[in-house]
Amino acid sequence: SGGSETLEFQAETRQLLHLVVHSLYSDKDIFLRELISNASDALDKLRLESLKDADLAADTSDLHIEIRPDAGARTLTVRDDGIGMSRAEVVDLIGTIAKSGTAGLLEKLKSAKDAEASNTLIGQFGVGFYSAFMVADKVTLVTRRAGEDVGTRWESTGESTYRIEQAPYAPQGTSVTLHLKPVDTDDHVFDYTAESKIREIVKKYSDFIRWPIRLISTSSGDEGTVVEEPKTINSMKALWSRPRSEITEDEYREFYKQIAHDWTDPLETVHLRSEGTFAYDALLFLPSHAPFDLYTRDAKRGVHLYVNRVFIMDECDALMPHYLRFVAGVVDAHDLSLNVSRELLQHDRHIRGVRRRLVKKILGTAKDLQAADAEKYRVFFDAFGRALKEGLLEDADNRETLLDLLLLESTHDETEPTTLRGYVERMKEDQKEIYYLTGASRAAIENSPHMEAFQAKGYEVLILADPIDEVWADQVLEYDGRPLRSIAKGRVDLDDADEAAGDADAKPEREDFTALLSFLTATLGEQIKQARLSTRLTTSAACVVGDVNDPTPALEKLYRATGQ
Ligand code: ADP
Ligand code: MG
Repeated sequence: SGGSETLEFQAETRQLLHLVVHSLYSDKDIFLRELISNASDALDKLRLESLKDADLAADTSDLHIEIRPDAGARTLTVRDDGIGMSRAEVVDLIGTIAKSGTAGLLEKLKSAKDAEASNTLIGQFGVGFYSAFMVADKVTLVTRRAGEDVGTRWESTGESTYRIEQAPYAPQGTSVTLHLKPVDTDDHVFDYTAESKIREIVKKYSDFIRWPIRLISTSSGDEGTVVEEPKTINSMKALWSRPRSEITEDEYREFYKQIAHDWTDPLETVHLRSEGTFAYDALLFLPSHAPFDLYTRDAKRGVHLYVNRVFIMDECDALMPHYLRFVAGVVDAHDLSLNVSRELLQHDRHIRGVRRRLVKKILGTAKDLQAADAEKYRVFFDAFGRALKEGLLEDADNRETLLDLLLLESTHDETEPTTLRGYVERMKEDQKEIYYLTGASRAAIENSPHMEAFQAKGYEVLILADPIDEVWADQVLEYDGRPLRSIAKGRVDLDDADEAAGDADAKPEREDFTALLSFLTATLGEQIKQARLSTRLTTSAACVVGDVNDPTPALEKLYRATGQ
């Protein structure tokens, strides 16, 4: 229907709104960044759509963002002449949080320890439009989709309902008017109608937005007329296309926060320019923590694709392999069609080349970080180590580098993980293989009977307690020419000399046990291949050992679960 309706926010939206309004953000200024970012997205979308569809009835002659403060009315309006929204889109996009993972996020927020922890969570989620309710007690949105005749007006106090109706004369694009809360500096609500405040926020958060952001100041002219003076208050320079030497650390950080919807600083920044036959700029970041959905099916990818500063798509999966989905940033390719589809990109020879180079660069950056700052690297690995392990299975070309990047628990040290390099350096002179044991937890692995002989002999064993360890350890056959060997499989040649000496002594012993061994073989029957005497145990009476080529029990379980 086209008439006026009052609708309820979806339950989760209501909860999220409540959290946003009640003290989650300490920095309320960011509401303006969110609204500007939405306006900028809307302009990008319109520009792209009009380039693709020449018949789109839209005005693209002066695409820009306008900020209009009204101190008398205590309102602030952010307007764009971008793509706009249809009525259905308003209901869908503004009235509902369709984003997956909302429930999980709310759960985590409830148990977050402090404001900063909550900010980090919310920031990853990108609460966006709703942040307006941190500083406004009523928000009015008027929008008309490019190409459509009639607009939509939406209004809410951010409690449980919103009102929606037709807006016949709405201009193309979207305007969001905030009816500002009273200034309360103790609560970080400033006077957002003050020009200086608006300029400060725009400079800080939105300076590189590639559309003009115009601040409209009004003054009274002759005979009671009102004179409007628009001033562009952002520099509009795409950060990635500027030379590195001219960019400050601060600018990099703010840019990262903007595109990654993160509140925390990135760990590392990678900025490169390629001027070969296929020219491009890339500005990429390693975040300092994993987004809450990194290991879920719908984890997003962080690299956005631009063509000559025109936004083309986010989550560009052709530019980063799945395991590096946590890398955030921008790639601006100069010689691509604006109409490229995801499909085409996947098969584009040049894009594949860019991707290879970017992967090398990212892994190289991680390696440099590992060498330069162990503590910082630990933060990185704690957040993304599991993703790198996926890389061992996905990315055969970079396997050696990925193996070097691993931090693994081992019997060598209870608190400090080791690299494989470190393990190899500590290997005993006669030791030919890298020993590991997988299991459900460090404690379970340490107490495993398989461990006994190794501990007795003082061999170091890697403790692999992450479920994905089963999978990569099974597929990666060696590191630095040394075979990786599960101590739960096959016969272990711990010490040939020992074994030989033991054999002589063991003769009578072996006879003592013949009866027991035949009993075990007969009783366990089909369930085992063989029952044999072993020197591998020191205190336990017996243990189950797999054949060298058998999958480990945990891997068997995993295969069964995935139907293999
Ligand atoms: P996000 O920007 O992360 O998607 P937001 O809460 O900021 O989340 O916005 C939700 C959605 O509402 C946007 O994805 C967009 O589709 C729509 N939207 C918000 N602001 C605008 C705008 N100014 N013009 C057009 N669409 C908008
Ligand atoms: Mg947004």
